[in-house]
Amino acid sequence: LGRKLNSALSQLNRAPVVDEKVLDALLKEICAALLESDVNVKLVSSLRQKVKAKAKAAFEAGADKGKEANRRNVVHKAIFDELVQLVDPGVEPYKPKKGQPNVIMAVGLQGNGKTTTCTKLAAYYQRRGFKSCIVCADTFRAGAFDQTRQSASKAKVSFFGSYTETDPVAIASQGVTKFKKERFEVIIVDTSGRHRQESELFQEMVQIGEAVKPDMTVLVLDASIGQAAEAQSRAFKESSDFGAIIVTKMDGHAKGGGAISAVAATKTPIIFLGVGEHLADLDKFSPQPFISKLLGMGDVQGLMEHMQDVAMQNPEKQKEMAKKFEEGKLSIRDWKEQVQNVMSMGPISKIASMIPGLPAEMLEGSDEDGARRLKRMVFITDSMTAQELDSDGSLFMQVGKDGKPTGLTWRVMRVAKGSGTSVREVEELLCQYRMMAHMAKQAGGKKGWLQAAQKMQ
Ligand code: GDP
Ligand code: MG
Repeated sequence: LGRKLNSALSQLNRAPVVDEKVLDALLKEICAALLESDVNVKLVSSLRQKVKAKAKAAFEAGADKGKEANRRNVVHKAIFDELVQLVDPGVEPYKPKKGQPNVIMAVGLQGNGKTTTCTKLAAYYQRRGFKSCIVCADTFRAGAFDQTRQSASKAKVSFFGSYTETDPVAIASQGVTKFKKERFEVIIVDTSGRHRQESELFQEMVQIGEAVKPDMTVLVLDASIGQAAEAQSRAFKESSDFGAIIVTKMDGHAKGGGAISAVAATKTPIIFLGVGEHLADLDKFSPQPFISKLLGMGDVQGLMEHMQDVAMQNPEKQKEMAKKFEEGKLSIRDWKEQVQNVMSMGPISKIASMIPGLPAEMLEGSDEDGARRLKRMVFITDSMTAQELDSDGSLFMQVGKDGKPTGLTWRVMRVAKGSGTSVREVEELLCQYRMMAHMAKQAGGKKGWLQAAQKMQ
């Protein structure tokens, strides 16, 4: 979906004039891509109308006549905003608080990924300094506790369950009581997802809920059901008033967009997306960064979170980095460290899409290809002097009398030679560094990053 939206938008950038015809063609392509990923027809046609209305109003106002760049921005922003609307339920989810128990109960049909997601969630919060654990209250499926035991051990997360107890309510309340006593902060209760009768399942959910009084109930939904997600979440909502949703198996399912937009229509916040079978395959979800990433505009928020994850292992460094981010004072050396961090963070394809301004070619090919390209960038920085590394890159720029850059200095050539790369590659690297530093500065104020992302276009 991202690729298709991306290519549609790049047509907008290439069009010499931006008029209604171009807009119509663009919208046609975008809507086709959305429909293909199973987004509801009504939602799609409403998006088309709204974008059109916004663009037309701006065109007719005339202010932008002749200035294609402005027109492009108007169209681009309208599309961005409406896509965000499509996936934004407009409701804030519960946020676990430190220093107190936060009970999270996972519900959902068997096979949707509850147990997997519970472990990912526990690991996620644990990485962020919450003492986290899992209670296995699935007594229905044979081997359920073994699954929890194995995955929780692998994730180094505490767990509770029983091979003999058959009452899920009893296990749930025992586990939660025990972990509360032990001052755990995030206590995740995994439930069963199948019964002889649906009514039994819903009844059990209600009973467990009454016993453990969750601060947040999370519905786990499989992305492959597409827009049927709406009906399924409504059915669950009737008996358990869940406050958040996690959509799993977003990897390799063309219907993901359908599921996400269907869920948004039920006014329930999606908090995470499951994007694979491994522990780290859990992406935090928020509407704006999600769309931004989808359109190849990067995801600075997500990136900063990932970087914090890595930095967790070194709290001093993290503080220093956070400060630099806030002040918008990232040097090339900091940028290099970030790239190296990115390389240690696992699948390049995943991380790279968060980096604003990274050219699309960086994302093509296998993860090894991506890693090789990132390594090349590190080679380039290896050929820089300490002074250059600690600078903001202005050493590489020739500046005219008016303070505007007029060209590159000899340093660029030297670095290209020294690293066995080309002037173009060095230039690209500097460009990416600047974008990153700029975004970081904007992100310092947290809210500012979106405007930054839009300005970059
Ligand atoms: P439960 O019955 O709801 O507890 O579901 P499980 O957690 O046992 O997961 C069912 C299957 O889905 C397992 O094979 C998981 O590995 C797989 N799974 C869960 N989440 C994801 C995901 O985000 N992506 C992919 N590809 N597979 C997933
Ligand atoms: Mg399970």
